[in-house]
Amino acid sequence: MIDSLFWLILFFLALALGWGLGRSGFSWPSRSRGSVRPIPSYPYVPLLDEQSDEALQRFIRALEINDSTLDAHLAVGRLLRKRGEVDKAIQLHEGMLANRQLTDVQAVQVRLELGQDFLAAGVLSRAETLFLELAEEKAVSLSALKGLLRIYEQEREWPKGVEVCERLITEDDYYRSVLAHYYCELAEQDMRRGRPKDALGYLDQALQADSSCLRAFLLQARLFSRAERHADAFSALIQACKLQPAVVGSVGSDVLEAAERNGANLEGALRAVIGEGRGLPVTAAVLVLARQIAQRSTSEALRFVQEHLRAHPSLLALKGWVELCQICGDSEKAAMADIEGALDKLLLADVRYRCERCGFAGKLLHWQCPACHGWGVVKPLY
Ligand SMILES: [Zn+2]
Repeated sequence: MIDSLFWLILFFLALALGWGLGRSGFSWPSRSRGSVRPIPSYPYVPLLDEQSDEALQRFIRALEINDSTLDAHLAVGRLLRKRGEVDKAIQLHEGMLANRQLTDVQAVQVRLELGQDFLAAGVLSRAETLFLELAEEKAVSLSALKGLLRIYEQEREWPKGVEVCERLITEDDYYRSVLAHYYCELAEQDMRRGRPKDALGYLDQALQADSSCLRAFLLQARLFSRAERHADAFSALIQACKLQPAVVGSVGSDVLEAAERNGANLEGALRAVIGEGRGLPVTAAVLVLARQIAQRSTSEALRFVQEHLRAHPSLLALKGWVELCQICGDSEKAAMADIEGALDKLLLADVRYRCERCGFAGKLLHWQCPACHGWGVVKPLY
């Protein structure tokens, strides 16, 4: 069976092949020579049908590599890689590199593709060697450095990742956020090894790289809390909540505990979180604050949640309101319990987070998007 990829390649390369083969004196067999454009049919069938190494070698030899056909060659390699036929992509690119027609600039491009092949094949040491060399070639240094990051992330070689990130920051501010996450990874390593001081040092570096690194504040809060530095823990948690009020949903009990131990003004701090979180999803913070208000006035707490529900309707807000109704001793308690059960089920199936880069949606907060591998780009929806 003729493989669909190669038909795609045919389509892709029709012009380039026509030109390249035409130059070498090749003529298309056609039923009638004339103005009718020849359809690439049987001359290619054996080559395409085989899909063997020999067929690939023939393809490499058939098309002269020059400025106008290089892109077509590279496109074929990318298609092979995308389809998971990495060994063929490697063969193609190595074949091209063995070709003496390549200029230095073209060879650099092909080596970059070969590096991507090795990365895709999991041959990380060879990919790393290539990318390290190419990082010094101005034309492709950005792509090579990005390739190195993918390797160091896979190998969890965070110190090497830090070095590469520092070079990328000069080109793109996004890498400040990536760098901060690498420092957070280093901090978590030290936390697991029982070295809280070193971990705190890394978290300082994370916040120097990116002062809005949510993860760094949350890790700081955990370390401060373990060290019974409750005032510092409370302040780090409130910083985190101001950056992303939705995290109050997951760290609400830590905030309450830190505030209690520290004698801090929790209600004031939560109001500040909600007030300063304009444009950000604040429902989780509203619900924690409502429970706090309910301790002195249940009717005020209900009013507070109802107002928020009207302005920002969501399943989470509705569930919070139903919970409060139950605490408030509403006469329809049984009905409310049923509604709450239904809401629990809906919330379980609900998408809570979305990647602002690629649209990946899920129920959990990921520091690194599982789809596009971006760091700090998955954000809560409400
Ligand atoms: Zn993404």
